[in-house]
Amino acid sequence: MEQVFAPWRIEWIKRDKETPDVDDCVFCEFPERDDDRENRIVARSEHAFVLLNNYPYNPGHVMVIPNRHTGDYADLSDEELLDHARLKQRTFDALESALQPDGFNAGLNLGEGAGGSIGDHLHTHVVPRWQGDTNFMPVISDTTVIVEALAETYTHVHEAFADQEGATVPNSDRAVVFE
Ligand SMILES: [Zn+2]
Repeated sequence: MEQVFAPWRIEWIKRDKETPDVDDCVFCEFPERDDDRENRIVARSEHAFVLLNNYPYNPGHVMVIPNRHTGDYADLSDEELLDHARLKQRTFDALESALQPDGFNAGLNLGEGAGGSIGDHLHTHVVPRWQGDTNFMPVISDTTVIVEALAETYTHVHEAFADQEGATVPNSDRAVVFE
């Protein structure tokens, strides 16, 4: 039987507010905070960052997010597009060495009609896949276990990014930085 795969149905954060704006956008807010580990930001480049999904489809489910607040893909400059794409390459590589998946699904949810949960700030989902895997969340529904799993995943993925060429690690509580 073919497996249905729809990570875009997962809401990253449950929110009541109907019209979030820049001041109210976690993808803008989290990078401004001091503690990247606490906020699950695992890597940063000049124009983008990598955030672990709080409601993962699978272990290692991350989002690669341009720094700039826009929901319009056409709005990204060449420089931003290239930087975002390079950070995706690094993300596949880091997840590959940290978690040894059999493959990946990766994609953008553009617009509310596509199921984007924070529709006005672009984010590319990257989900590691294993042969025969099932959705991680229903399998592990204990919140404490998920929080611990996220912390452990953060450590492994952080180490894998830190091993890459061109990586700078300010300290273990800060994201790995690529110039
Ligand atoms: Zn934003």
